[in-house]
Amino acid sequence: MTRLLLHACCAPCSLEPVRLLVDEGFEPTICWTNPNIQPVEEHDRRLAELRRWCAAEGISLIEAGEDRERWERAVAPIGARDRAHRCRACYALRLAEACRVAERAGFTHIATTLAVSPYQLFETCNDVLERLAAASGLTPVIRDFRPWYGEATRRSRELGMYRQQYCGCRFSAAEAALDRARQRDERKARHRGAS
Ligand code: SF4
Repeated sequence: MTRLLLHACCAPCSLEPVRLLVDEGFEPTICWTNPNIQPVEEHDRRLAELRRWCAAEGISLIEAGEDRERWERAVAPIGARDRAHRCRACYALRLAEACRVAERAGFTHIATTLAVSPYQLFETCNDVLERLAAASGLTPVIRDFRPWYGEATRRSRELGMYRQQYCGCRFSAAEAALDRARQRDERKARHRGAS
């Protein structure tokens, strides 16, 4: 089996990538490095869920460095005005740390569970991973796990896992709340139109 370091954003998003990568012949070790998640209580809740699942499944988990102040300096100033730019900077910060860990620990391959969520910027994330992996002499394992997002949702519910309502940063929390409000308004408008 080929050892692979799998950057993980949370337990629910790890379910299907781990299964699929094992089916391909990889031996994934999970790497947690997500200084983007706010507030700290939310960060700790997601990490605790990942720890529980890894322990139950016998999957190795590396808790890598997290520089929350650096995230505030490098990502937060972009704010809500340019999501693509903000997320690129956020992916770069997290995946750079994962690549650093992979290189030091002798891994040859690297991937991320961000590739399962249809809410992430898939192309941007892959581009960032490819560049950082190349700079570290690693092979990026780029896979489109998004078709398995529904299955990940189903399995995580079945397992009673904690499932978050937003990506991680305070901007994404506000954006997700706005999106839910917009969807509620649209449903109400449709309902009024039908009655
Ligand atoms: S939306 Fe997600 S990926 Fe983008 S900056 Fe916020 S936490 Fe990072």
